[in-house]
Amino acid sequence: MGVLKRVYWSFRKDFTFVLAFLLSTGASGQSAPIGAPRNAIVVRAGQILDVRSGTYLKDAAIYVEGDRIKAVGLASDVLKQAPATASIVELGDVTMLPGLIDCHTHLMARVPDGDDGYGLNLLTKSQAYRALEGAANARVTLEAGFTTVRDVENEGSGYADVALRDAIQNGLVDGPRMRVATRGIAAVGQYFPFGISADLSDFPTGAQMVSGPEEARRAVREQIGHGADLIKVYADWNYPTLTFAEMQVVVEEAHKANLKVAAHATSPGGIRNAVVAGVDSIEHGHRADRAALELMKSKGTYLVPTLSVMDAMVARAPDKWTSPEARSFLESMRQAVAIAKELGVKIANGSDPDSIERHGRNAEELEAMTRRGLSSIEAIRAATTTAADLIGWPGDVGAIEVGKFADLIAVHGDPVADITVLQHVGFVMKGGRVIKNELAKGR
Ligand SMILES: [Zn+2]
Repeated sequence: MGVLKRVYWSFRKDFTFVLAFLLSTGASGQSAPIGAPRNAIVVRAGQILDVRSGTYLKDAAIYVEGDRIKAVGLASDVLKQAPATASIVELGDVTMLPGLIDCHTHLMARVPDGDDGYGLNLLTKSQAYRALEGAANARVTLEAGFTTVRDVENEGSGYADVALRDAIQNGLVDGPRMRVATRGIAAVGQYFPFGISADLSDFPTGAQMVSGPEEARRAVREQIGHGADLIKVYADWNYPTLTFAEMQVVVEEAHKANLKVAAHATSPGGIRNAVVAGVDSIEHGHRADRAALELMKSKGTYLVPTLSVMDAMVARAPDKWTSPEARSFLESMRQAVAIAKELGVKIANGSDPDSIERHGRNAEELEAMTRRGLSSIEAIRAATTTAADLIGWPGDVGAIEVGKFADLIAVHGDPVADITVLQHVGFVMKGGRVIKNELAKGR
């Protein structure tokens, strides 16, 4: 790229930022008195859940300044610390929690039903349209209380996920904070779309297809160059696909750039290859056996079990899940989570939404985890503190603590007693800005 072109692009970037800033300050309709802190808000609620201890702080408040939390504690104490000019949001008798985190989304995916749905999605939608679908998915995800997501590959939409992440960051559209994997890396012929005519050699693919370590290395370097925050690999697809050597190179290149690697793996062999190669998380792990989970424990690899997407599939067509093979698969999925909990494998929340129906139902994953033996507070930690560690933002998100982003949600009821109340989030604040507040209407 020439120098002039580079200057032009950097100017354009600054201009977009300034424009977004002007739009956002204009939209707030508030002008703080001179000398008063920008965006000073006290949010007050019946109780706050401390996700680390699992206990409640009653009659609590949070003081937000700019986009960060400045104070949290008893309302009487917090109000003393906040300036008199601070605006006050009274939420009433509700429970506040940190904004939730989904570590396995596909915001660019609205795949139609049916065996040919994936191919049709690639055939009929432009990448520009895919990006706009992503914006719509991002908004419902945020309104469901998920203020941060790790988007683990964009299902053949080019680099639309990078564009969406940046558009959200620049205030052009509303959505969660995003960590994006871009294209994903799979073995040639071993990922969607399947069944495309061999004559259509240029038909787009759902991931970047590679064969051999050097192609894998090039794919990682390309994706990093185009804005990836993490790398996603497909370690298996029914059977192990990418080789150990291919994944080792992916991990080497990603870790060199300080990026983590997430591996789709459902079979014991695929999990073993990926974990020994050094990936940071196993996605799904549905058929993980004890040996695979022990290996994960010893290497500190996270498990993102993605259960609710399977539950939804079973609920949609229960007749398809009655065979002995299907029942044994569902049982192994249940056992994998139970053994992971017993061994102390780090479990992070991820709902794997890929259709118009699934986006915005992210909190069903927490209920799905409790149905496999996690306690409610363990499921909440999987979607807050543990998730923040996995995505590499432990200082910024995942808890209501001084210095972190003011990403807050509120629900009626007690989520420790009943995890399903998190499926009805009534208030969402992201970075000090109220995204949604339906609590005044009651329930
Ligand atoms: Zn997925």
